Amino acid sequence: MGIPVQQQLILGKYLLKKKVKRERKFPLLVEIEPLFACNLACSGCGKIQYPKEILKKRLSVQEVLGAMEECGAPMCSIAGGEPLIHPEMDVMVRELLARGKIVFLCTNALLLEKKMHLFEPHPRFSWTIHIDGLRERHDETVCREGTFDKAVAALREAKRRGFRVTTNSTFFKSDSPEDVRSVLNFLNDELEVDGMMISPGFAYEKAPKPEEFLSVPEARALFRAAFADGHRERWRLNQSPLFLDYLEGKANLECTPWAIPSYSIFGWQKPCYLMGDGYVETYEELLETTEWERYGRGRDPRCANCMAHCGHEPTAVMATMGSLREAARAAVNSNA
Ligand code: SF4
Ligand code: SF4
Repeated sequence: MGIPVQQQLILGKYLLKKKVKRERKFPLLVEIEPLFACNLACSGCGKIQYPKEILKKRLSVQEVLGAMEECGAPMCSIAGGEPLIHPEMDVMVRELLARGKIVFLCTNALLLEKKMHLFEPHPRFSWTIHIDGLRERHDETVCREGTFDKAVAALREAKRRGFRVTTNSTFFKSDSPEDVRSVLNFLNDELEVDGMMISPGFAYEKAPKPEEFLSVPEARALFRAAFADGHRERWRLNQSPLFLDYLEGKANLECTPWAIPSYSIFGWQKPCYLMGDGYVETYEELLETTEWERYGRGRDPRCANCMAHCGHEPTAVMATMGSLREAARAAVNSNA
């Protein structure tokens, strides 16, 4: 992943240990969903459809620390729902950082300016702000006017206070290569974010409008056209070069969903956060009881159009670490 040098060293050390021990399945990053409640109601969201009693539930700080300790992953990405609704989010982040973890806090940024004072800049902590397009397009996706301006104002303030700020943008069938370029140019050049993550919207099981999501050939054509003319090299994309090759159809990657597992109020999700084939209480149980060979493109029809980061970026990271040429490309692309 295009991450700062300190974070790359932590990750490199962790991967080396796994290699020495000849472990083949292990977690790199845990997607933590400490709640499903949100202060927005985006049309493409499957989380907020849960019944009220589920939306009221929260993972405790201790549950999250216990899960991270049990699985041993060096990184976590806290999402949801909207994590800043969680009353102890600042404590959770502090405790994770105190245990040496790399923490990404994913937010729609509506509460960011109000809650920012509870957090401190840290080399292993990043805000990851959800921006799906420029003003009109973003507000339309999240179904609320004014959200883009609020997110941009919070993003600028976070940068001003010295936080590392990354963004996450999802693209759909209605997006053109120019739409992708205009939002990435804005984030890269005008807001000067530290890193940008992009994904093709994928029609996961609970997604309400599957017709709006991109097929693999459509996603590849979109990213290939958007990346052309040196744009890909110019942008501070927070993803490994090999994963970006995969997005634009220059490489193929198998799915390795055990490496970015999902832990939520239901437990560890089988096989990944996009599909719910059951939940278990521990990561060890997840590894042992999931029939991993059943999943991935060509094996499970539900995976047919999936190019998701959670399944394919770890494959790219592990291939990068195992190849001198790819490691050199990633180092050139890293943002220290
Ligand atoms: S901000 Fe995220 S969690 Fe909230 S409704 Fe939108 S997609 Fe769902
Ligand atoms: S391809 Fe992998 S990440 Fe995508 S839905 Fe299937 S198991 Fe999950």
